[in-house]
Amino acid sequence: MTPQIELIDIDKHYGAFHALKNITLTIDKGSFVALVGPSGCGKSTLLRSIAGLETITSGTLRIAGQTMTGVPPRHRDIAMVFQSYALYPHMSVEQNLTYSLRLHGVKKAEARTKAAEVAATTGLSHLLGRYPRQLSGGQRQRVAMGRAIIRNPKAFLFDEPLSNLDAALRVQMRKEIRALHDRLGATSVYVTHDQIEAMTMADWVVVMRDGIIEQQGRPLDLYDHPVNQFVAGFIGSPAMNFLPATVGQDGRSIALEAGGSVPIAGQASPGEKVVAGMRPEHLRVAEGPAAAFHVEIGTIESTGSATYLTSRDGSLQVVQSERTPLAPGDLVGLEIEPTNIHLFDPSTGRKL
Ligand code: ATP
Repeated sequence: MTPQIELIDIDKHYGAFHALKNITLTIDKGSFVALVGPSGCGKSTLLRSIAGLETITSGTLRIAGQTMTGVPPRHRDIAMVFQSYALYPHMSVEQNLTYSLRLHGVKKAEARTKAAEVAATTGLSHLLGRYPRQLSGGQRQRVAMGRAIIRNPKAFLFDEPLSNLDAALRVQMRKEIRALHDRLGATSVYVTHDQIEAMTMADWVVVMRDGIIEQQGRPLDLYDHPVNQFVAGFIGSPAMNFLPATVGQDGRSIALEAGGSVPIAGQASPGEKVVAGMRPEHLRVAEGPAAAFHVEIGTIESTGSATYLTSRDGSLQVVQSERTPLAPGDLVGLEIEPTNIHLFDPSTGRKL
């Protein structure tokens, strides 16, 4: 794999505020990398630093092998796509597409030919004469994409590009952006706070919190092997349940604080206090001796394809694909495969 963007020990301070802490990340050529994390974790700052819209305080940033220190945004040869689209309202789609080429001295006829190519790639051919106000949200998003790809940049940087669109269109545009990335053989960095978007679009997901990278890896590796409670709770929807517990004297089961004993995989330290992570989709309703513990049902929600059971105290959620004969107030028995239980250190949050 050839690295296309390299971030080595990057720090960014805004005055006294430390927004990026020791960020090291390699983005391979042709990969689609998602930066995710809660609001304020530094995703946009990292993206803007790659673009050169923010100056990093220390560390090294290379794009296609070239160190970017002192290189202004327009000379970095990368394209940014924002949620606001940033289209020029007084220009037609074609003019929006060709604007940056014309700015770089490309002749009008050549620019128009390229615009026609890009319009065909992005499904905009029949809209070239329209103005942004005459377009739907999805079409505007495509123009923004088209404008980015027309220059054949070294990388695409996306900053929450789909957050203005409704849910159905977002799902469709997700697929379109990913397909376009593959067709172009592009390198893309995609910022989102939506972990589903990150998981479904990216080859590599970077989870950030408070200016640091908590974990990076392939989407399903993050889901299967979160290194700490934060990542475990952030990746996966609905979120993982966290239940305080103590390891039993045999080291092979845990006693839940709320009652019940659950077998675990492997060997833990007897008597150790832990937080047991159990994904809602891994818990199963069980009867009789198969039930490891019981909870009282508070609410039941069904979307038709899935049923969501939430405990009376709100501390536990179960998702199942079957419909349920249960009702609020029922005491329900639950079981889980020992290999699906994640144990965390209650004080550090680290995976045990
Ligand atoms: P969101 O999802 O809300 O956009 P984010 O993860 O993209 O969040 P950033 O915009 O990168 O977060 O901001 C990271 C932190 O840096 C925030 O705490 C923010 O308040 C702070 N910050 C961003 N820009 C500046 C600035 N120009 N001056 C001071 N602090 C800033």
